[in-house]
Amino acid sequence: MIAINQVKIEIVFQGNKAVTVDEAALRKKASKLLGISDTQIAEIVILKHSIDARKKPQLFHVYTLGVCLKEKKQEEKTVKRCRNANITIYRENPYIFPQSGMKILPERPVIIGMGPAGLFCGYMLAKHGYKPIILERGYDVEKRTKAVEEFWESGTLDTESNVQFGEGGAGTFSDGKLNTLVKDKNGRNKEVLRIFVECGAPPEILYESKPHIGTDILKKVVANMRETILKNDGSVRFGAKVTGLEIENTKLTGVQINDTDVIKTNHAVLAIGHSARDTFEYLAHINISMEAKAFAVGMRVEHSQSLINENMYGSAYGNMLPAAPYKLTAKTSMGRGVYSFCMCPGGYVVNASSENKRLAVNGMSYSDRGSKNANSAIIVQVSPKDYGSDKPLAGVAFQRRLEEKAYALGNGKIPVQYYGDFVKNQTSVDREDYYRPCIKGGYQLANLRGLLPKECETAFLEGMEQFDKTIKGYAAEDTILSGIESRTSSPVRIHRNEDLQSPSVEGLYPCGEGAGYAGGITSAAMDGILVAEKIASQYQPFVDKIAVV
Ligand SMILES: Cc1cc2nc3c(=O)[nH]c(=O)nc-3n(C[C@H](O)[C@H](O)[C@H](O)COP(=O)(O)OP(=O)(O)OC[C@H]3O[C@@H](n4cnc5c(N)ncnc54)[C@H](O)[C@@H]3O)c2cc1C
Repeated sequence: MIAINQVKIEIVFQGNKAVTVDEAALRKKASKLLGISDTQIAEIVILKHSIDARKKPQLFHVYTLGVCLKEKKQEEKTVKRCRNANITIYRENPYIFPQSGMKILPERPVIIGMGPAGLFCGYMLAKHGYKPIILERGYDVEKRTKAVEEFWESGTLDTESNVQFGEGGAGTFSDGKLNTLVKDKNGRNKEVLRIFVECGAPPEILYESKPHIGTDILKKVVANMRETILKNDGSVRFGAKVTGLEIENTKLTGVQINDTDVIKTNHAVLAIGHSARDTFEYLAHINISMEAKAFAVGMRVEHSQSLINENMYGSAYGNMLPAAPYKLTAKTSMGRGVYSFCMCPGGYVVNASSENKRLAVNGMSYSDRGSKNANSAIIVQVSPKDYGSDKPLAGVAFQRRLEEKAYALGNGKIPVQYYGDFVKNQTSVDREDYYRPCIKGGYQLANLRGLLPKECETAFLEGMEQFDKTIKGYAAEDTILSGIESRTSSPVRIHRNEDLQSPSVEGLYPCGEGAGYAGGITSAAMDGILVAEKIASQYQPFVDKIAVV
């Protein structure tokens, strides 16, 4: 296959719609670039796609195309003749799961947590015959959805099944952005996307520069992955919180569930996510090696999606294209980083709390990104210096203090304020002339000044003013703030050695975001695959002695 990079096709508008670029148009463009007739092309595929809006009002699709010629041997010759760095022979970098090791697995491996890390670890181990047992404290995705909608409706929180906990993990009620900055030398990123497509996600995620599936599709994909794990002799238990580890001579021998049953195992993948504070406390209590880790805190910031589209695509065609994402970063005069995080075009601010009397927000969207508003967290870096203690769980305590303040400010609902009032340090009142927030969960107008630690608040204000230079109207009076964004990544790192095992307990594999080795759906899934590879490369697939579950 020939790969043609940087294929630019101008976006054409008819009426109030962008004209779709069809295969014929791609063939015509490719054959022109290769100096051949398009009848010589056997097949053409999109390998990459993005939108280039740097020369507004001219907007371009930018593709990397894969072209197979009817006469295969002509491909090398054509590439040579073109003498163009953007025209090369395409070399696939297939993902390969390692050969299984020789050692015998005495017990089935256990996976604690069914977020992206646990799910992909379980999927790979099941597919390769290791019969993993997945334990998830929350409910399955169907029942969990009911609990979350009930919470958003009535404010009644289920502390075991909510936006953070349950099948699919924290990412299930999300924008389902699947891009990651993690380098992908081994093809794990591609493999994650391939499995998402195999389990029902749209194939475009394989080539879009910013792949996204939205919460509605993600839920189906997660349920399909579960079915595949079960079909391959894996087991899944919901409402199964791991409350203890059985350890003999620093070796793992079992895990305890709900303070009662014990499952015998010598290998447990600890994929518990960034919000499993009770489990962090238990691990710290039994001296599992861990430390406090830097993360970031801030507030959700909302704008009308049309303001963002006009800024990103230009006023001419702004509202004729999909909801535009943005990414903003700034360094403040005090040297703190302030940046946009988990931006949700056409999305909702959500109450993402998991503990009573503590309130945290996050963002989500559906696959159509169809809400009127865009939102993103604007967050400020914090580190153990800010936590007031260097204890491993000092970051958790720091988060809890902020979330208790947010809960009080909104009387249990999401505290919301217009940016103009935030600057003036006054409580917001309802304004007919201002646009409304798009929020999942009850909210109350409030004054958010003093919610963030002083230095973070100063940095936030400075960042907003800087961002207003990049996106006009970003720091407008009617910009909507809601707080607190405190679960941006894990406040702890659970140490692991080169065998990916805890130095404290042989057979315990800290994994994913909660353990401090990932940030985001795809990178957590990649870390889950990495741990699955590590187990498989040591052991043969599991052979049953007796039925254990
Ligand atoms: C609202 C929201 C929107 C987000 N949007 C995006 C996005 O668009 N794109 C993106 O890349 N990232 C997004 N994220 C972040 C992303 O969800 C996380 O980075 C990712 O889910 C981390 O995966 P994980 O498997 O490491 O942990 P988690 O997804 O947190 O999963 C951990 C699982 O472990 C379970 N668990 C915890 N303790 C125990 C225990 N003791 N016993 C049994 N089970 C336990 C939990 O119930 C949970 O299901 C979002 C997060 C939230 C909350």
